[in-house]
This record gives sequence, C-alpha cells and structure tokens, in this order.
Amino acid sequence: MKWGFVTWLSIIAAPLSVMLMSACSSSSSGTSDRSSAGSRFGATAAHGGDYRPVPAKPAKTPSQLYREVNVKQDIIPRGQHARKYRRYMKPRYITIHSTQNYSSSADALRHSLALKNGKLRARKRKGGNRIGYLVWHFTTDQSRAVQHLPTNEQGEHADFNGPGNNYSIGIEMCENRGNSRSATIERTAKLAAYLMHKHGIPLRKVVPHYHWPRKGLSQPHKNCPHFLLDNGHPGAKWQWFLAKVNKHYKSISTPTIQPNPSASPYAAPVAATPTPTRVASAPSRPTVVAPRPAPRVVKKPAKPTVRYHTVKRGDTLYALARKYKTSVAALKSKNGLRNNIIGIGKRLRLP
Ligand SMILES: [Zn+2]
Repeated sequence: MKWGFVTWLSIIAAPLSVMLMSACSSSSSGTSDRSSAGSRFGATAAHGGDYRPVPAKPAKTPSQLYREVNVKQDIIPRGQHARKYRRYMKPRYITIHSTQNYSSSADALRHSLALKNGKLRARKRKGGNRIGYLVWHFTTDQSRAVQHLPTNEQGEHADFNGPGNNYSIGIEMCENRGNSRSATIERTAKLAAYLMHKHGIPLRKVVPHYHWPRKGLSQPHKNCPHFLLDNGHPGAKWQWFLAKVNKHYKSISTPTIQPNPSASPYAAPVAATPTPTRVASAPSRPTVVAPRPAPRVVKKPAKPTVRYHTVKRGDTLYALARKYKTSVAALKSKNGLRNNIIGIGKRLRLP
C-alpha cells in the first residue's frame, strides 16, 4: 500500500508484544464451507442420454484450505481506532496489495499490532481518507495470515470513497526483509480462493490495488502490488497469480461452478473472450395446430463483427479493456501499440 503520509518504519519497528486470538469471531470457517461439496458426482448427460457419472469431488474442503492459510484472527476492537465507526460492507471484490515495507520486523503480526494500537494514521480529509486511519482485512506473510477487520466492514486501503473500499476485502502481502515472497504469494492465493468461495466472489473480481483509481491523485492507478504487475500494469505476472488463485479455488469447488479465468479484465490476449458472434435463431412460437418437433435452430456461421472505439478525453486502455470485457494486452496487440498512451480521437480496433 505505502502511504506517503504515514511513517511506516517508525510505526512498525516499535517493539511490541503481540497477543493472538485464535477464536473464530467473524463466522469465518464454519457452516457455509460444505455448501459446494453437495453433489459428489456431477452426472454428465452426454448426447443420446448416455449418463456417465463423473467424479466431481473437490480435492479438499474449504475448511482444509482455510487451515492451510493459517489465519490468526486479531481483530481491532470494535469502537476503537479504525473501527471507531461501523461501516457495513457486502464484499464483492478482493483487492491485493503489498506493503512496500522492507523493514525486517514488518511482518503480518507486527502490522496487526500497529493496526490494533491505532498506529497507522492517515490524514482524514474530504475526498480522501474517511476515518483518519488506514485499515484492511488481512495481512499475509510467509508463515501466516492475520485478520484485522471482519469481512463485512469497510476498510481504508484502496480508493478513498470508491468501490475498492466500499466493496472489497483488502489483503496486504508483507515484504519484510527475510520473508519468502513465493510463500507469501502462495498463502495469499489460497486466502483469496477461500474468500471467493465463502463470499461467492468470481475470479474476475480478484483485482490488484491498481484496479481502483484514486480520484484526485496525479497517478490514480497505483503500482500495487508492484511485484505482481508488469511495468506498473496488470499483465503476465498478474495472470500467473490469478491462475494460482483459480487452482486453489478449483481444489475446493465442484467443476460445475468454476469461474472462467478468461473473464478477467486482465486476461492475456490468448485467453481473451472472443468477439461474441450472434447466432441467428429462428423465431420461436410457430403458429401450428398439430404438435410437431421443436423448431430447429439454424446456425448460420456469423460474420465476425469488427468493432471500434474512438478515444475520448479521460479514456485509458485499462478502462476501455474493462468496458469492452477484454484486456489491455489484447487492445495493445490489436492496435500495434507499444505503450499505454492513446491519443484523443484515435480509432481503436476492439478484439
Ligand atoms: Zn496497495
């Protein structure tokens, strides 16, 4: 996250003892876990009524995955500091950050302590931070994840009064010296997969902090988490991370409810959703008296439609990729762009 107005090092380096709460205060790992494991066998109705039972048992239960994440609940006391006001949220996204705090002591427990003690202050201002504190839901490092905020409360980690704060669960990955980045990424992917399952969040709504423009700042899209972005933008590395999340999600879900990874706004060109081709279907409800077989749908090979967008003031490749449900990479390759700059009035061909 890294916020200019907070002296992270001095805050985090303060020696403090940590108290862990292992109880499950926010109804996390319980009952809904088994919901997706309902049908053990997804019977596939092959053409001609050939039913073949396909084993569809997930590799593990959501509870098992949750245990692997090793979540310690260390929730900020209600009514204090960043939880001074209760700000309800129904989570619809998961936002991934990295702390950019390289101090060797800045691990997940230390961040938790700082949050609990109200040490992570931010200047409260109209259009900016709303409560005078920074806060997010989970911090991950190589050995654990610590939860600071119930997932049904808003944080202050993404975009001030924007949807990133209003609707997303924030996860900060630690970058303290000596911490294994790969283990941290793996744990974060597992946590994201678990939260997707628990809250019914699709993979395309697992987003980097970059996703949320911060209104009023000269650089609205933050390079965060920097080590999962390519030159400050979601690209191959972000796709690689999403594939990890999806793998863990699949490990606890029946195949029928898998999300489509290519639906991500950051999907690589190869995985991008192809231009929808409209199939002309025969008008239904024929006026017939005698019963007859259902009208046959004539599938005409549709001509691929070429679509364009003329660049207007304020357009970014990123925003256009989202609008047209494609990726920045696909837009760039389609238009032979070598960087992310697009001039007003330029006619962009859409993939
Ligand atoms: Zn961030």
